[in-house]
Amino acid sequence: MVLKLSDGTLFQSKALIGENVCESSSGSRVEVLDPATSQVLGTVPEMDSTDTQVAISEAAKALPIWRDIPAGARSELLLTWYQLVLDASEDLATLITAECGKPKVESLGEVAYAASFLKWYAEEATRAYGDIIPPHQPDKRLLVIKQPVGVAAAITPWNFPAAMILRKVAAAFAAGCTMVVKPAPQTPFTALALGVLAGRAGIPAGVLNIVTGSINSSLEIGSTICKSPTVRALSFTGSTKAGISLAEQAASTVKKVSLELGGNASFIVFDDADIEEAVKGALAAKFRNSGQTCVCANRFFVQEKIHDRFVEQLTAAVKVLRVGPGNVADVTVGPLIDARAYKKVKGLVDDAIHCGAKIEAEGDIGAMTGNFFPPTVLTAVNSKMRLAHEEIFGPVAPIFKFKNEADVIRLANDTEFGLASYFYSKDINRCFRVAEAIECGMVGINTGMLSTAAAPFGGVKSSGVGREGGRYGLDEYQELKYICLGGMT
Ligand code: NAP
Repeated sequence: MVLKLSDGTLFQSKALIGENVCESSSGSRVEVLDPATSQVLGTVPEMDSTDTQVAISEAAKALPIWRDIPAGARSELLLTWYQLVLDASEDLATLITAECGKPKVESLGEVAYAASFLKWYAEEATRAYGDIIPPHQPDKRLLVIKQPVGVAAAITPWNFPAAMILRKVAAAFAAGCTMVVKPAPQTPFTALALGVLAGRAGIPAGVLNIVTGSINSSLEIGSTICKSPTVRALSFTGSTKAGISLAEQAASTVKKVSLELGGNASFIVFDDADIEEAVKGALAAKFRNSGQTCVCANRFFVQEKIHDRFVEQLTAAVKVLRVGPGNVADVTVGPLIDARAYKKVKGLVDDAIHCGAKIEAEGDIGAMTGNFFPPTVLTAVNSKMRLAHEEIFGPVAPIFKFKNEADVIRLANDTEFGLASYFYSKDINRCFRVAEAIECGMVGINTGMLSTAAAPFGGVKSSGVGREGGRYGLDEYQELKYICLGGMT
């Protein structure tokens, strides 16, 4: 083991299926790399369709056991798991930073955020109320109950290795579903550590199954999940392209599908905004996780009158960001996940510069090479550039100038995506007008951070369907059953 954990047993390098930790049926394993150094952190089983089928069967076997545990008792198991995750924060954060590259302080924040879903859904589990409906005939009584959909599956990305899993699993378990989880091939160790803690918390074997794979076996695992009639719900977080493919495949077995997909968030600064606060919000919304979050600001729109002041202040703030490996103290921007991500971000910046963009700030990456990308601020950008339409997924802030409110709403909505949007204004009338006019699932007003377990997270248009978090998140894992009781006298 390359990593030093205070609890070494959290470094699990076998998959978790049923009551066993296991190898792949083919015996094949795949390497996991540290994005900061390209050093091999370890290997995990490279599982395939056969292994996925076994995981699905184990989840199906555990379903009646888990479903029939009273909600209060399931809730307590989730709370025990929550406490164990919090107690293991340091080790989990070490794993997250090693696999995904984000600064350790952000990894600690992710662990707290991820754990908060266990607490939230432990509480929601006991409040999955149904309804009693006024009957349409005197001898009838009408009831609606909520039941778990059954076996559910989760396919998650690498950018939040703990939170993207617990956001789904916590809701599924609260509803009474069992699960097959396929973590991203870049970040399986965090997922497996969460699995170890679930076992310790007393979650019965087979309720949580973690199938590890590689970029070569992902498609096979995904299609096995989608085509299995046993799996009744699929929750996917990742790119829009992959989400469409999975939804198409899942249609063959008419599953419940929830998709948390890509974004192209607008970040609007009106001339009545508090510019200092807007700069603080911009740093949080753009440079967290090196710009690799789905809710990252992708396009900054700044009103003419304050454009130059905003650019000057953001540029000054970006120049002092410290780029480096996430496990080094004071580092605020880690590496991108891999060489492919670097190439994509570089391509978008080169295209913008070729089309006339101006570099206002380019962070210092010193002697670092590999996946480190300098935090960059661009001006003189326009809607013909690729970065106006594509998700950058890197620490690059393009700043567009706009004239008035009507213009900026049109520009902000000129995208196929609709996940998050941010704006800064002190005018309360404008706050409501703009929030209602922006086509997206989530709006941050005078803040660059909006995620919380208590609120529904999700998008519109090509950013997805369904919601995670809040009381709404439980719906993705429940079916409504209508019961009509007749012959009442
Ligand atoms: P991705 O290429 O779509 O992959 C996401 C995960 O799904 C990976 O583990 C990937 O495995 C797997 N996958 C992709 N296609 C699959 C298939 N057909 N069957 C089974 N597994 C499949 O996305 P990414 O580049 O890793 O992640 C970044 C994207 O996720 C961005 O677009 C970001 O906006 C989005 N995201 C959205 C949210 C949200 O809540 N809306 C949150 C975080 C991230 P392989 O890598 O092996 O292909």
